[in-house]
Amino acid sequence: MYYLLRHRDVPGIESLDVYAHHQGYSGLRRALSMDRADLLEEVSRSGLRGRGGAGFPTGRKWSFLDQSQPERYLVVNADEAEPGTFKDRELVENNPHQVIEGTLIAAYALNAAEAFIFVRGELLAGYESLLRARDEARIAGYVGSHIFGSDCSVTLKIFRGAGAYICGEETALLEAVEGKRGHPRINPPFPAQVGLYGKPTVVNNAETVANLPIILTQGAEWYRSHGTTASPGIKIFSVSGRIARPDNYELPLATPLDTLLYEYAGGPLDGRSIKAVIPGGSSVPLLVPKSFSVPLDYESLAEAGTMLGSGGVIVLDDQVCIVRAAARLLKFYRTESCGKCTPCREGTYWMSAILDRIEDGKGSMEDLARLPDIADNVSGICLCPLGDASLPFMLSAMKHFREEFVQHIEERQCPLDHSVAHSL
Ligand code: SF4
Repeated sequence: MYYLLRHRDVPGIESLDVYAHHQGYSGLRRALSMDRADLLEEVSRSGLRGRGGAGFPTGRKWSFLDQSQPERYLVVNADEAEPGTFKDRELVENNPHQVIEGTLIAAYALNAAEAFIFVRGELLAGYESLLRARDEARIAGYVGSHIFGSDCSVTLKIFRGAGAYICGEETALLEAVEGKRGHPRINPPFPAQVGLYGKPTVVNNAETVANLPIILTQGAEWYRSHGTTASPGIKIFSVSGRIARPDNYELPLATPLDTLLYEYAGGPLDGRSIKAVIPGGSSVPLLVPKSFSVPLDYESLAEAGTMLGSGGVIVLDDQVCIVRAAARLLKFYRTESCGKCTPCREGTYWMSAILDRIEDGKGSMEDLARLPDIADNVSGICLCPLGDASLPFMLSAMKHFREEFVQHIEERQCPLDHSVAHSL
């Protein structure tokens, strides 16, 4: 049974009639019957953590919002652009009312009279699906003034981005909503104090808010009964790459990675073997087969030396050239760097050029030694997380597959047959 990907159980749930017929908006009704403090307490008790990548506890994030000012905003981040991650896309396209219901629950909890859902520019179908759902909900009185006769009034705007990865970073996203170029802000001050239009603002991921109707209808204890004490609840894992059944899988947190790969996603392609997995979107270190029994939760993955991130599980098999994969990913970060700070702008450019050189058989051992040195000069000193996010896959690939890098240099070519080899 699905709680997030409900359209797989209930055809037509993207329409209000069907959604409402299947308990839709009953979580919002319950939320509106509660004091805001009790609602915050219930969400905190559920243990829900942000599903965008950082995994910060949602209730705690809400508690930071400066309530002393008369206006405050909620922005829901559906600017999903992390390579290998396509969970928010499926949610906004196929189950838009659950994202909207969760947005309204969060807006009520935060006492925000205005909420935005920021949708990645390329997700046109999701944007249009949200617009249709928002208009249906507004006509039915679920969005707007005095929802269900309560004192809660919320204006909901659906905002379409222009397709920049950097706008997934919350301060760049706020700049974009304000109509400016999507460049990250220097913080502090953080958005909870100075956010959209200078007002206190919470930014929550789309999957995060889609969990709220579940928590409100099933209860915090039910939610906590899934996953672990520190990582409770359910999560969508996007599985892609060299795997038999690439898809989104909704599972309890702490499901072992090998269960996801071999039982749900059907294992490797015929005749192939999996050589590595990136478990949390392209910005986290890879895992090698001896670690595939790791439970997919925040703590276990940290112990294994990587991160849950966005839950985008990218599978690399024995036909994937690890150098080519690293070069491809660095090129992505180089292209998406907004250029505002030097270590990221120059560092990603330089690392990308070196990796291309090695892949082309023109690299040297000095190049190989220079990569971690450049990474050292990017790590921890960038304005936003993008600079750091460019490093973990490359560094972990160099650690676990150093011989492949050396082979490219010594043989002066990629050792894989390019007529069958794959990148990412
Ligand atoms: Fe821009 Fe990169 Fe600096 Fe972030 S780290 S502000 S993306 S240049």
